[in-house]
Amino acid sequence: MIRLHGFRGGLTGLPGNKEVSTSMPVQRLAIPERLYLPISGVDSLTASIGDRVIGGQQLTNSAPGNSAIWHAPVAGRLVEVVDHPAPHVSGQSVPTLVLEPDGSDEMVDYTALGWSGVSFEELFAVVEAAGIIGMGGAGFPTCLKLSGAGSGMLSTLIINGVECEPEISCDDMLMREQSDKVVAATAKLAALLQVDKAYIAVEDDCPQALSRLAASIQSVKEIAVSAIELVKLPIRYPSGSEKQLIENLLGKQVPKGGFPSDIGVLCLNVATLCAVDDAVTQGIPLMSRIVTVTGDAVAKPQNRRVLFGTAVADLLSSCGGLIAEVDDLVMGGPMMGFALSSPLTPIVKTSNCILVQRAPVLGKRRPIMPCIRCGDCVDVCPAGLLPQQLYWFAKSGEHDKAERHNLFDCIECGACAYVCPSQLPLVHYYRVAKSEIRTQWAQLIKADGARERMQARDERLERREQEAAERRLRKRSQRKISTDNAEPPMSAEVKAAMARAKKLQQAGASETSEKSVLADKSTTPTESARD
Ligand code: SF4
Ligand code: SF4
Repeated sequence: MIRLHGFRGGLTGLPGNKEVSTSMPVQRLAIPERLYLPISGVDSLTASIGDRVIGGQQLTNSAPGNSAIWHAPVAGRLVEVVDHPAPHVSGQSVPTLVLEPDGSDEMVDYTALGWSGVSFEELFAVVEAAGIIGMGGAGFPTCLKLSGAGSGMLSTLIINGVECEPEISCDDMLMREQSDKVVAATAKLAALLQVDKAYIAVEDDCPQALSRLAASIQSVKEIAVSAIELVKLPIRYPSGSEKQLIENLLGKQVPKGGFPSDIGVLCLNVATLCAVDDAVTQGIPLMSRIVTVTGDAVAKPQNRRVLFGTAVADLLSSCGGLIAEVDDLVMGGPMMGFALSSPLTPIVKTSNCILVQRAPVLGKRRPIMPCIRCGDCVDVCPAGLLPQQLYWFAKSGEHDKAERHNLFDCIECGACAYVCPSQLPLVHYYRVAKSEIRTQWAQLIKADGARERMQARDERLERREQEAAERRLRKRSQRKISTDNAEPPMSAEVKAAMARAKKLQQAGASETSEKSVLADKSTTPTESARD
């Protein structure tokens, strides 16, 4: 039995409210009339607007290792690319590919390698081609996580079944309903990676999931019971955050700026693991996910399996629609979620929850007051940061200071904002500051790129000018040589004068010759030979 090490900061006693959305089994949402797939992060489309595509067909390309690729969730026609509200904290619209399903169930003929036949390199390729990213919320490409994890390089596999925050129950439902699959996939992946130990971590407010997983560990064939340990964690937010989970289980910290693989660990969200299993055992790419719809303003809170690209409005109406006025539609939970700018915002790979509550959710309960420097935020910060300092720097635009105070170590868990007696929307400031800093980085990179291009252009022009000058010099010296060898140019007058002189010469010559003939006749041969 593992001994838990705990982690710094965090919150206890938050109301989980999971029972609100777990009373009925996960049901598939009917295929909507339109699917919206944001394509701002992709390199290119693999099909043209107007094309008919079939389910599972790859629609976009991305840079290697990016996994930001879409596969058609169903058959239909690509009708347009439009600017459409993005599922992002900025709420901005981004270029979005619109697919109109045609009702056909035509799908790609998948080929699967199976766990027994897959090598580590093939696993990497399968996961990348299936477009799998972390489904716990962070969205990190899973193939990149695997890239630091060749066979025998890791010691520990952790399957993260800890819901990242209250209200969300999609992973709980997945573990309840597919416990055999979770356990079998954990065992197969652990064997492939040759790890010493595999853990499945679940918080103790998921008793059904825990008991089913325990039963599966006992019953799934081909698994040595000792190979997998089911770990029940006490409820403490944010236990589901990757770094905090690793610290809690192993007592090890992921190095600053590093990855879990740096300390021999691979940590995968439980839904991500199931997506990997689908890709390996059936060849199916990632096209849907389970989403929790919850809150006291929706008629039938529940979990639904939803095709990517489904508008939140379609998802809400499948759950009976709204029964009360709400300020915000929140994507995510009450701690880390963000307000959507439109109900037409689509569900994407990281969308784990839609929260609709009558009372304001995101820090709007009381008026915002000035910071009183109480330090409560410091006590709860699991990342060991100084949230009030970060707030000052973010608010005043002192980005360099915010960076020096490790702004990018902030996991945006919202614990600081939750305890802040002044109701300061701290995480909002951190997100804005991070976004501005990233924009500055992008501009710098762009400027560096432009500078390099300009420098290359100048060098090219300089080279061309030099070559042209050399050519001119060569021509000039060739001309000089031929000019030196040539007769000097003559004017018409000179030519005429020379012609006249020639005539005179000829005339003189004939006269001289007549004279010489006469002279010859009067001279001796000896005198003639002396000339
Ligand atoms: S908890 Fe709020 S009021 Fe207290 S120090 Fe932090 S930011 Fe200031
Ligand atoms: S949101 Fe960031 S600063 Fe605030 S408690 Fe969480 S990690 Fe710390």
